[in-house]
Amino acid sequence: MSLYDVVIVGGGHAGYEAALATSRMGCSTLLISMESSKIGTLSCNPAVGGTAKGHLVKEIDALGGEMGFITDQVGIQFRILNLSRGPAVWSPRAQVDRAGYPKAIQASLKKQKHLEIREANVVEVIVDHYRIKGVKTSDGEIINCKAAILTCGTFLNGIIHIGLKNISAGRFGENPALGITESLIRLGFESGRLKTGTPPRIHKDTIDFSVCQPQYGDNPPEPFSYRTDSIKNPQIPCHLTYTNKTTHEILKSGFEQSPMFTGRIKGIGPRYCPSIEDKINRFSDKERHQIFLEPEGYDSIEYYVNGFSTSLPAEVQEQAIRTIPGLENVKVLRPGYAVEYDFFPPFQINLNMETKSVEGLFFAGQINGTSGYEEAGAQGLMAGINAALKIKNDEPFILKRNEAYIGVLIDDLVNKSTLEPYRIFTSLAEYRLLLRYDNADLRLTEYGNKLGLVGDVQYDSYKKKVSCINKIHQWISNQTVEPATVNPFLEEQSSSIIENPEPLIKILKRPEITLKDLYKGSKIFADDILEDLNYRDTLREVDTSIKYDGYLKRQKEQVDKFIRLEEKKIPKHFDYKAIKSLSAEAKEKLSKIKPDNIGQAGRISGISPADLSLLLVYLEKGNRGNQNAKTQI
Ligand SMILES: Cc1cc2nc3c(=O)[nH]c(=O)nc-3n(C[C@H](O)[C@H](O)[C@H](O)COP(=O)(O)OP(=O)(O)OC[C@H]3O[C@@H](n4cnc5c(N)ncnc54)[C@H](O)[C@@H]3O)c2cc1C
Repeated sequence: MSLYDVVIVGGGHAGYEAALATSRMGCSTLLISMESSKIGTLSCNPAVGGTAKGHLVKEIDALGGEMGFITDQVGIQFRILNLSRGPAVWSPRAQVDRAGYPKAIQASLKKQKHLEIREANVVEVIVDHYRIKGVKTSDGEIINCKAAILTCGTFLNGIIHIGLKNISAGRFGENPALGITESLIRLGFESGRLKTGTPPRIHKDTIDFSVCQPQYGDNPPEPFSYRTDSIKNPQIPCHLTYTNKTTHEILKSGFEQSPMFTGRIKGIGPRYCPSIEDKINRFSDKERHQIFLEPEGYDSIEYYVNGFSTSLPAEVQEQAIRTIPGLENVKVLRPGYAVEYDFFPPFQINLNMETKSVEGLFFAGQINGTSGYEEAGAQGLMAGINAALKIKNDEPFILKRNEAYIGVLIDDLVNKSTLEPYRIFTSLAEYRLLLRYDNADLRLTEYGNKLGLVGDVQYDSYKKKVSCINKIHQWISNQTVEPATVNPFLEEQSSSIIENPEPLIKILKRPEITLKDLYKGSKIFADDILEDLNYRDTLREVDTSIKYDGYLKRQKEQVDKFIRLEEKKIPKHFDYKAIKSLSAEAKEKLSKIKPDNIGQAGRISGISPADLSLLLVYLEKGNRGNQNAKTQI
């Protein structure tokens, strides 16, 4: 009978990140997926990143994960979003070649040491005395392991809906995963039902691009990965068009056959990424909605109709889509559809992604109620790291909310236990100015290196960047500029000139002056400093830290307060019911989630400041040796 350190069920974005992490950390790993040729498939749009999602990809990369590196290899259009707003919300996004992405992932997995891949269908989780023992496949084979990570995505009892027709499937043309939900329920887990959807795919040669607005990527494109020097792939544009009143009327005519509006779909859908029928129903005053036509790859004839996700009958979809400018004669290659699937409300996992009730069993990705490749990848990486650490008897690796979007994501999942599809947003991160996409390496590379996931090239490059940043800061803080040197540049930038010599840092704090413009337009900088400024994205880091110094200091003070609360630990088996004056809701929620510390307890929805004060008083009494406090660490 085979025994692996870690078995991972599912080769989606959570699965491959988890598998690479555990095997790179030296654990013998088996990745089981239903169809090995589908490993790394992008189920919905051929794009990676986006607002806050791009931050996750950069963080995955800084920790030694794969998503950003692969995106760079197969990206067909790269853009930094939200550049007209502050640096906290700038976010990288890339369109990718749909066929190329899974191929590149599979190539990475194949050459990875300590990693085996098997095509099989897991139907049961085997547990002995609340500890994982292995998994059972549909052939009856039992595969033993010390830890298992379930990353089943949208496949658990999956049902696809198109109009009033439905079929059992995990994704278009792929079987659902049957058996796992039931085996987990038998073990005492709670499950729920969610849904998501995808738009139709259309034939490229039947689109009239001349009436659509082209959307170009950045030139030069900025890579996601700290392992990529530059993007060499040719870049191709997307196009923008709009729905109109006629489109909406036709879509409305199909509402009677909508699986959503007739109640056939029971699962809750994503609020932030609604279907087109949901949009015209909820925002009935809007006369048009944006539609992005996104190429699926260099050699693909398919275009993805972003903004037109729907599960209406295929005929209604086709009729409606042909009212959109540029799509009058379009050939629909595949209709849009919705998929319903089981998930496990994530209060059932700990911050290290391990389930609370079965030791050694981890959940990651859509199974925890999230939606999106990036959210899945981030969880997969963290589950993989923590499974490996557990096997090595090391402390869990938990990122705090002030350290990473990954920390925000997992903390939200565990403490708020989503009941609808969860996606990451910049607004969810209270310390977002500290968690910029462009400083992910500064925040996380040391961790990735200590874990053994960041290789020498990436680590050396990070070290060099740190040293460049320190040198530049020191140099700038010692410089005074003469009016004669800087005034011509200031006049050019419509910035007020200086009468007397001034510290350079003062000039750089002006919002209209960027470090980039200053170094290009003046002779202030020494040659070696210019060289350092040009090292990777050093320049942007220095500019942001000078300009936003005040805000950054304020956020750091808030972080100090946050950390103080995180350091007030709550014993593992603390008996909340013993605090008589605690509200019934607080007792129930705290007992269910079992927070590690007071900070985490305060983030659980329904826990009031009064509940927290009581808890603090009780814990302090306990620390002073009060016999009534049933504390046991
Ligand atoms: C139709 C559709 C529309 C979507 N729309 C959006 C969207 O608009 N926005 C968005 O952000 N995200 C969307 N998503 C979600 C996105 O695809 C997922 O969030 C992401 O892929 C989840 O990654 P994952 O690793 O958790 O699972 P998945 O990528 O779903 O991968 C799961 C993998 O596990 C395998 N597997 C499952 N069960 C078993 C088993 N028992 N045995 C062996 N192998 C198993 C499957 O074969 C598959 O390879 C959509 C997904 C679908 C299907």
